[in-house]
Amino acid sequence: MSYKKETQCVQAGYTPGNGEPRVLPIYQSTTYKYDSSEHLGKLFDLEADGHMYSRISNPTVSCVEEKIAALEGGVGALCTTSGQAANLLAILNITSSGENFVSLSSIYGGTINLFAVTLKRLGIEVRFITPDMTDEQVEALFDDKTRLVFGETIANPALDVLDIEKYAKLAHAHNIPLVVDNTFATPVLCRPFEFGADIVVHSTTKYMDGQATVVGGVIVDSGNFDWTVDNKFPGLTEPDESYHGVVYTKNFGKAAYITKARVQLMRDFGVLPPAISAFLLNSGLTTLHLRMERHSENALKVAKYLENNDKVAWVNYPGLESSKDYALAQKYLPDGCSGVISFGVKGGRDAAVKFMDSLKLAAIVVHVADARTCVLHPASTTHRQLTDEQLVAAGIGADLVRMSIGIENVDDIIADIEQALCQA
Ligand SMILES: *Cc1c(COP(=O)(O)O)cnc(C)c1O
Repeated sequence: MSYKKETQCVQAGYTPGNGEPRVLPIYQSTTYKYDSSEHLGKLFDLEADGHMYSRISNPTVSCVEEKIAALEGGVGALCTTSGQAANLLAILNITSSGENFVSLSSIYGGTINLFAVTLKRLGIEVRFITPDMTDEQVEALFDDKTRLVFGETIANPALDVLDIEKYAKLAHAHNIPLVVDNTFATPVLCRPFEFGADIVVHSTTKYMDGQATVVGGVIVDSGNFDWTVDNKFPGLTEPDESYHGVVYTKNFGKAAYITKARVQLMRDFGVLPPAISAFLLNSGLTTLHLRMERHSENALKVAKYLENNDKVAWVNYPGLESSKDYALAQKYLPDGCSGVISFGVKGGRDAAVKFMDSLKLAAIVVHVADARTCVLHPASTTHRQLTDEQLVAAGIGADLVRMSIGIENVDDIIADIEQALCQA
């Protein structure tokens, strides 16, 4: 029986048997007991299912992975200790030194650092594209070493909406997958697999947790991509010597990608979240559908209020008809555009800072996407490592205030903004 997403948020991933705990238990154990060496040996050869060591898997974490896989409509998921770790493993799983990938430039600042600095040091080159480039300009960046295309459903903080179908077609024309960071939309507002994306990643730190309690990430595999087509992914289609010659596409079929990520990369990098973190994430997920609805509703009201305020220079929210991405938002985010808005206060950087310092309900924090309304000035905080050119490419001006609209009463949020704008 397949349930709808609201039911999955509440119930997927954990179904207790007779007399078992109603609530997902926290399995606080590093290791697992087996009756025979033979059984344990089979686990090491990937011939049997089961947990062996909590660096690779844990029953509490597995239940949350199943819930998220169900929500996204994937064949499997792998939780990580952060969104950064999810992006790192998602890319390393299908790239090697000497290869490259293509990414939309309008993405999270931490991801830009990971791609342009750290992956570069490992010999993996990122090539940035923008939606306004011509097909010829984009094609010129692909070669026989290009291994994936990357973008964010709703870019943080530029709020550009990704034309998922277009980039899925582009990637598939080159026999490579489209990897989509779905953090801001969550599967409640958009399920990228339905539009052709192959792999989804999340920073679960944001809406999925929703309470600002645990940093985490997740990778989800659609199971739809055929890794065998073009001999581009030998790591998936040729024997893995570290497992006596296992071939992931042969032994694990549709789950090849996510199995390799776990048994090879998670084994070697060790970034599985602790059981307690997965438990907290699961509590957050239980109300995700309700929260996303309210975040979206409140954010649209605030965006409309800001648009009609003469102290505000501009407002960017994909749910506004004035947004350049309104048509894309109607297609990919029909139930709401999530809770993050950006805008400029007239008077530039100084006015923006004065406005932020005058807010009472909304707090200045290095965070977005939790239940409490908060604000951030990316140019002086999260994105300060970027050069001016990278800032422009990421769609961030010096006057940009990013506001994450919470699930409080929207009248209180607007009253707070109003009094702070009067100070600015
Ligand atoms: C926050 C964020 C990340 C990084 O996630 P962490 O959990 O902070 O490591 C990646 N992508 C997007 C879109 C984000 O908002």
